[in-house]
Amino acid sequence: MRTTMWTTMLVASILAGGCAKAPPEMQVIDEAASALGGKARLQAVKTLVIEGEGPAPNVGQNTMPDGELPVWQVTEYKQTIDLATGRSRTQQRRTAQFLFAGATVQRLDQGLDGDTAYNVGPDGAMTRAGAAAAAERRIELLRHPITIVRAALDPAAKISHLRQEDNTQVVDIATAKGDNVTLVVDNATKLPLRVTSMSDNANMGDVAVATSFSGYEDVAGLKLPKRLTTNIDKYLQFDLRVSKNAVDVDAGSLTASEAVNAATPAQPAPIVVTTEPVAKGIWWLAGSGNHRSIVFEFEDHLLLFEVPLNEARSKAVIDKARTVSQKPLTHVVVSHHHFDHSGGLRVAVAEGLTVITHRGNEAFFKDLVARKHSIVPDELEKNPKPLKLELVDDERTLKDKAMEIHLYHLLDNPREGTNLFAYVPRDRILVQADLYDASWQQHLWGENVLWNIEHRKLRVDKDVPVHGVIEPFAQMVKTIKAKPSIPAAN
Ligand SMILES: [Zn+2]
Ligand SMILES: [Zn+2]
Repeated sequence: MRTTMWTTMLVASILAGGCAKAPPEMQVIDEAASALGGKARLQAVKTLVIEGEGPAPNVGQNTMPDGELPVWQVTEYKQTIDLATGRSRTQQRRTAQFLFAGATVQRLDQGLDGDTAYNVGPDGAMTRAGAAAAAERRIELLRHPITIVRAALDPAAKISHLRQEDNTQVVDIATAKGDNVTLVVDNATKLPLRVTSMSDNANMGDVAVATSFSGYEDVAGLKLPKRLTTNIDKYLQFDLRVSKNAVDVDAGSLTASEAVNAATPAQPAPIVVTTEPVAKGIWWLAGSGNHRSIVFEFEDHLLLFEVPLNEARSKAVIDKARTVSQKPLTHVVVSHHHFDHSGGLRVAVAEGLTVITHRGNEAFFKDLVARKHSIVPDELEKNPKPLKLELVDDERTLKDKAMEIHLYHLLDNPREGTNLFAYVPRDRILVQADLYDASWQQHLWGENVLWNIEHRKLRVDKDVPVHGVIEPFAQMVKTIKAKPSIPAAN
């Protein structure tokens, strides 16, 4: 009797629960699902294949810090998603629309199979990518109305923080896998307008990565966007114009091979910094990777040329620079604003170094130093210090009894608007970043570099670069002359 009564009460409460209106956060998701074709249709989708093309700007590589970004034009873009298994693969071909020293046509082929991120090379060989790539691709997979609303419908997902913004409803979604994104839904159409996630960028710190959806079309009982525009912070990252949305077509193989699944995820290469004396009081700090720095010994202090890439590389370089002499390391020349050359700016500031750079970088560097790095706190976030900046206009000489360096602004270069290079008259050494690397496929601005050296009346014997190897200047000239180059403007 007792049992029956309890059972009756339980059934009644379940029924009541079933009839109750969903919480308002969930209503937003339910309405979005209806607008996209209905919950049942959405849940039944097996595969999605998106083809198209569009520009993918190269963030942090513009000629001037506030100038237009150089663009990769992505053609033959194809993203295949198997919604049932959560596998995906993105294949693209891209062409550089800017002066580029490397391969100007590139193919990318990247996949995700469960927790395994993999890359496929031009020869078809599959390799396992790192854990960070897997996490990034899992979030990337949510940057589509169908995938995000399906993920939000998962009973294990948490929907929260409903708010109204302009003519939209906004909710935060924590997916069953623990990824956090924000979804914006149009009040009138109930269609998803945007998915945003927060992530860490080595240079910019906390950044919002937002993908907007527009131009919805009807395909196989669903509404699918014809345009997906992704911005990172204030920069356009990719503006995909969809030429074809296909539903439930053959997805081909998206699985990682057994060998790849069994492989250890790729680890970032260990950082090695070597010390090579170049001349009296001058050391070249090379080692792993292809970003080198140069240390100069003055009478009572040391000066470093370049803190490249990121905090990890630059901290290792700063530590190494401090071992070449007892004198304190006090100054760093940051050659220019490109992200792979200014990636150590913040750690240099945190280490108390005075930054010498071209005046054109002033506002940009002030912004980089002021930015929040709360997602992955760096040294400057944990230990804020003021930026000590010394700005160079056309040229500057740093000189005492022990050392003399001339800094020059690279003039009229089509790729490098704020670049400072150095010249050591005693040893006739050129120190430069991005002017020349012997391994480049083409030296498109080589003639401009030679013109700059001539214009400054420098008698260079040796090139001591940030990228590449130390070479006699005669060899550098020979290499530049042998490869296609645009004529110097002057
Ligand atoms: Zn550069
Ligand atoms: Zn570079």
